Amino acid sequence: MNSNKKITIIIFSMVTLLTILIVALVALGSRQSGYDSAKKRAYLTADIVKKSLTTHMVNGNMNQRDVFLESINDLKDINDLWIIRAKSVSEQFGESTLGNEYPKDAIDKKVLDTGKEEIVISESFTNASLRITIPYTASMHDKPNCLSCHNAKEGEVLGAISLSFDIEEDRIASISILLKIIAIITIFLIIILFYIVKRIKPYTSSFDGITDVLKQVHEGDYSVRAKQGVLKEDKEASLWVNELIEKLETVLTGIEKNLTAFVHNRSTNVNNDKLLTAQEIIKDISEIYNYKKTIETDLTKEDIYYRLTQVLKNKLKIEDFYIFENDLIKDERVVIYSTNNLKACCHINKNIKEHCRAERTDTIILSENFSEICRVANCKENNHYICIPFLINDQKSITIHIICKDENCLKHTKYQIGIIKKYLEETKPILESRMLMDVLRERNLIDGLTGLYNRKYLDEFIEKKMPIEVSKGTTYAIMFLDIDYFKMINDTYGHDAGDAILQKLSKTMKSSISENEFIIRFGGEEFLIIMKNPTEESALNLATKINNDFSKLVFTFNNESFSKTVSIGYAFYPTDTDQIWKCIKYADLCLYEAKETGRNKVIRFRPELLKNNDKEKY
Ligand code: GH3
Ligand code: MG
Ligand code: MG
Repeated sequence: MNSNKKITIIIFSMVTLLTILIVALVALGSRQSGYDSAKKRAYLTADIVKKSLTTHMVNGNMNQRDVFLESINDLKDINDLWIIRAKSVSEQFGESTLGNEYPKDAIDKKVLDTGKEEIVISESFTNASLRITIPYTASMHDKPNCLSCHNAKEGEVLGAISLSFDIEEDRIASISILLKIIAIITIFLIIILFYIVKRIKPYTSSFDGITDVLKQVHEGDYSVRAKQGVLKEDKEASLWVNELIEKLETVLTGIEKNLTAFVHNRSTNVNNDKLLTAQEIIKDISEIYNYKKTIETDLTKEDIYYRLTQVLKNKLKIEDFYIFENDLIKDERVVIYSTNNLKACCHINKNIKEHCRAERTDTIILSENFSEICRVANCKENNHYICIPFLINDQKSITIHIICKDENCLKHTKYQIGIIKKYLEETKPILESRMLMDVLRERNLIDGLTGLYNRKYLDEFIEKKMPIEVSKGTTYAIMFLDIDYFKMINDTYGHDAGDAILQKLSKTMKSSISENEFIIRFGGEEFLIIMKNPTEESALNLATKINNDFSKLVFTFNNESFSKTVSIGYAFYPTDTDQIWKCIKYADLCLYEAKETGRNKVIRFRPELLKNNDKEKY
C-alpha cells in the first residue's frame, strides 16, 4: 500500500471516529432535552390540573371534574392522564364519586408513599413515551391554603397525577437534527479529505517514488532515477537522491570497467549489483597483489609452481587439475602438478605443438563447446575438460588442464578462467626470471656470492640485448655503487664479515628495484645498477633509497655493532653520452667524486666533472 493511501486511511479513520463521538454526544444531549421538555409539559399540566381541581372544589362542582380531566386527556401528545387520591383524603371527604381515582400501579403507590415524583421512559422502535407521576402535597403556602380544608400536615401527600406523554415527535425531531449534523459533517469530511489528500499527495508520491528508486538501487540497478518533485522540499530530495545514485553509478561503472579489465573479464558475473561486483574485483586484486608479492621473494621455479597450485586449489577452489610445463625448443612436456589419483584426459609428452590443441591454437579449449574438440583427449565418460595455455617466454609455456566431473564444477571453473589467466600473467615475469636464472646459472652469468648478475652478463647484455632495446627507443641510467671503507671490515672482522655485508647490500638493492632495473656485481664491492627508461627523478629516487636503506642497517660482529654506507654515481644513456662504456665511466667518475667529497652520497654526472682533456671530447 502506498503512503498516500495509508495517510488517507489514517486521517479518514480519525475524523470518522471524531464524527461518531460528536454524533453520539449530540444524540444523548438531544434525547435528554426531549425528556426535559416532556417533563416541563408534565409539570405544567399537573399544575393546571391541580389549580383546576382546587377551583372545582372551591366552586363546589367537584363532581364535574371528570369532564375537565377528559378534555385535558384529549390534548395532543397526552396519551393518558389520571388522578390518584390519597387515603387520608378519602377518609376526610369520602370515597371518590368517579370511582377511578385509586393508584393504578406500583408507581402510583410509591409516589403516594414517598411524596417523590417517578419517571418511566419506554421506548421501542416505533413508539416512545414518558410516564411521569407527580405528587400533590399539602402546603399552607398554596392559594388557597390546603391546610384550611384538608386535615393534613404540612407536606403530607394528598394525591398524585400520572401523565403519559407521547415523545415520538421529540425523538423524530432529534433524529432529524442528528441526520442533518451527520450529513453536514460528512460533506465537510469529504471536502477536508479531498483537500488533505491533494495537499499531501505531492509529498507522499515523491516519497513513494524515492522509496521505489532506492529499492531498485538496493537490488543493484543503478540506472534508475527518482522523478523530479513539484514542491521545493521533494524537488531537493529527489535531486540529492539522483545525484547520489549517479555518483555511485559512475564510480562503480568506472571500477567495474577498469578493474575488470585488470583482473580479466570473468566469463559470467554472479552479481548484477555493480557494488558487489566491485567488492569482488577488489578482493581478487588484493589477493593477486599478495600472491605477486609472495612469489617475488620465492627463490626457485618450484616454489612458484607450488604457490600457483595452492592458489588454484585453495583460493579458486579448482579440485582436479594438472599443470604441464612445455619446452618449446625440445617440443616436450613435463607434469609439474597433478591432483592425487586423477587421470589426465591426455598423456602426450612429445610433439606438443602438433598434438595439444590448446598449445597449437593458443586458445582455451573447452570440451563442452564441441564433442571431441581435442582429438588426443580421452576423458572418462561425462567428464569435461578445460585446457588453458599460457606462454612464459620463447622457450617455455605452461598448460593448465582442468577436469570437471559435473556441471557445477564446469560452471564454476568457466567463471574462474579470467582470474586464472590473471594469476598466470602475474606469475609470468617472475617465473620467467627464475627460469632465466636457472639458465644463467648454467651459463656462469650469475655471481655465486650475491646471486646478482656478473660482469660476463653485462658484456652479453651490452652486446646482444641492449642494441635491440635501444632500437626500440629504450634509454638507460647507469649507477655505480661502492661500499665506503669496506676494506676496513675485512681487516677488522675478517673476510666472512665482509662477505655477509656484501650479501646484505645485494638484498637491499634487490628489494629496491622493479622489473625495469637489474644489478651487476661489477667487481669486489662495486656494483652497477642498470635502469630502463629512467627519469631524472626516478634515478635520483632509486639511488637515494639504496643509499638511505643501506645506511640504516646495523651489523654486529665480535659483539660490536656498526653501520656502513655506500657512495653512488650515475649517468644517463644516451643523454650524457651515446656510448655505453663511456656512460659507465661517467658513473664511475661521479662515484670517485662522491668518495673524494666525503662518501655516503649520491652524485649525478655533470660535464664539469670531466678533466679538461675529456671535456673537449664530451
Ligand atoms: P673506499 O671507501 O675508498 O671504497 O674504501 P674501501 O676500503 O672500500 O676501498 P677499496 O674499494 O679499495 O676496498 C675494496 C676491498 O674489498 C678490497 C678487498 O679486500 C675487498 N673485497 C673485494 N672483494 C671481496 C669479497 O668478495 N669479499 C670480501 N670480504 N672482501 C672483498
Ligand atoms: Mg669501497
Ligand atoms: Mg672499491
